[in-house]
Amino acid sequence: MKKRLEKTDVKEKTVVVRFDYNVPIINGKIIDNTKIMASLDTINYLLKNDCKIVILSHLGKIKKEEDKLNNSLELVAENLKKILKQEIYFSHDTMDPELPERIKIMLPRDIILLENTRFLDIPNKLESNCDIQAASFLASLGEIFVMDAFASCHRAHASTVGITKFLPSCIGFSVERELAALDKLLMNPKRPFTVIMGGAKVEDKLELIEAMLLKCEHLLLAGGLANSFLAALNFNIGSSLATNNYQTIQKLQNILLNNREKILLPLDAIVGSSYDKNYTKYKKINEISDNEIIYDIGIKTIEKYKKIILESETIFLNGTMGVYEDYRYSNGTKEILNILKESGKIVVAGGGDSVSSVKHFGFNDAFTYLSCGGGATLEYLIYGHLVGIDSIMEDEEIEVLDV
Ligand code: ADP
Ligand code: MG
Repeated sequence: MKKRLEKTDVKEKTVVVRFDYNVPIINGKIIDNTKIMASLDTINYLLKNDCKIVILSHLGKIKKEEDKLNNSLELVAENLKKILKQEIYFSHDTMDPELPERIKIMLPRDIILLENTRFLDIPNKLESNCDIQAASFLASLGEIFVMDAFASCHRAHASTVGITKFLPSCIGFSVERELAALDKLLMNPKRPFTVIMGGAKVEDKLELIEAMLLKCEHLLLAGGLANSFLAALNFNIGSSLATNNYQTIQKLQNILLNNREKILLPLDAIVGSSYDKNYTKYKKINEISDNEIIYDIGIKTIEKYKKIILESETIFLNGTMGVYEDYRYSNGTKEILNILKESGKIVVAGGGDSVSSVKHFGFNDAFTYLSCGGGATLEYLIYGHLVGIDSIMEDEEIEVLDV
């Protein structure tokens, strides 16, 4: 069992919390504050316990100095201030030597947000390489560490794994919620358990496919993944996205052979053309010609998958049925989401684009659980553990290093 926030004595302590404030920003505006809202349970609990709160988060990809320009967490501080209706102090320097003094004079219930931890990657990758000095500095800012950034739990960074080596640590409410939902899916799904997987590249999803095949009764495939499987069965998939790696194709053939009863592939498709971007056509899966590109599943596939969904009790969805970003190829994804919504079954969706597609079509509240961890969600489903929370265990004598 992971050490939980509720089982940790935080009363009147200074608590360092790692959140996932990696919010989407367009033209200087936060366009979706779901991640900020997801941190409120933990913040309110700490406020209730009269803690001083020091918040860490990353935002965006920081590879070079210019990347800092559009990825400051100051915007998040402003947003949080409006939501909580209280001052949120902000430190422009994540490792400002004055910080310990500044935090010392803060009052109980005061909150300070530090600048993007990934700014520490310029020039020496202190965050991403889990630099021990950086971790010990961040740890020196509080007495307890709360890990509440599920989407960063698969990263061994200074602000995730590093800091746990110096402070007694626990998981926050949002990580706890994610783990509970995914554990339920992995350990004890109500059966029949059906997995629906789509998306782009089969190589990115092979491990997940293999892990899910061990747990589910049905695996319904779509998108680029299905293309590769169809090609492995010698269907002509024209100019569709698919693997051309011989070893991967052999692997897919073995998977198909060993899971004949479980795996379902598309029967039809909506195709485009490699030389005419205005061309779209309905095609049976055995009628695809060389220049055609499979972009979405067709109506017969939707009907066939619907039947399996309605016979199932639990469904896990990852990836999209087609190139949902283009309205001409969005029908398969939209229809499957709608069928899942109407089914009344236990439905869990996870993965970066999967969750984006659910939001894109307005199905946010339609499912049992939307796992917002992106890569971390998939890693947890494959390996059953995450490096960022491996060391946070209940009742374990934590060997805390000297700062
Ligand atoms: P997640 O991020 O949830 O794990 P993926 O990234 O695997 O999901 O899947 C979503 C992506 O897959 C979308 O960008 C979509 O355009 C792409 N995709 C789906 N079907 C196809 C297809 N037939 N050909 C090319 N790309 C596809
Ligand atoms: Mg993706």
